[in-house]
Amino acid sequence: MNKGLLIVLSGPSGVGKGTVCAALRRRTTDLIYSVSATTRAPRAGEQEGVNYFFKSREQFQDMIARDALLEYAEYVGNYYGTPREFVEKTLAEGKDVILEIEVQGALKVKEKFPEGVFIFLLPPSMAELKQRIVGRGTESQDKIDRRLSVAVDEMNLLSKYDYAVVNDEIDRACDRILAIITAEHCKKERF
Ligand code: 5GP
Repeated sequence: MNKGLLIVLSGPSGVGKGTVCAALRRRTTDLIYSVSATTRAPRAGEQEGVNYFFKSREQFQDMIARDALLEYAEYVGNYYGTPREFVEKTLAEGKDVILEIEVQGALKVKEKFPEGVFIFLLPPSMAELKQRIVGRGTESQDKIDRRLSVAVDEMNLLSKYDYAVVNDEIDRACDRILAIITAEHCKKERF
């Protein structure tokens, strides 16, 4: 049996990774979503074990020490990381796993899983990206400014990815990602 594909969906802050990933989860049950651990506080409506595993900094540092994370990154003052065991077990069962993570973590995954499928989500334009970060309306001006400057730097990392998908409309972005996954399954090397 072939191992599943590791799909890494990344891109700059505010591009809509979370929204596109949530739409993909609704569209197909063939893609297994990896729930990340984070030290950030839950937002309204977020559920433990569904959106994230919410951890204290001590608990997160303990996960790092136990090598329980495939990758982790500190992003705007909080830790985010991918629990390793779930990903490895699910891939070994022949199921595809999707990670929705920021760009530094994605590059670390690439070092460990070069055979992964690395998809960079692009905004329709930089003006649109700024609008999306400001328009989220959940954060202080200081946090918005930090997210904006991080997002501009992150755009330069596109060259490290296998695919670029423009997030102009959520459904169309999902169509493109599902087409990429189908194509990856049809690669002759998998037969
Ligand atoms: P948010 O706080 O808006 O949920 O997420 C902030 C950023 O953290 C997003 O860019 C999201 O993709 C990223 N992120 C979520 N989970 C992980 C993870 O496990 N590892 C890394 N490196 N980034 C993550």
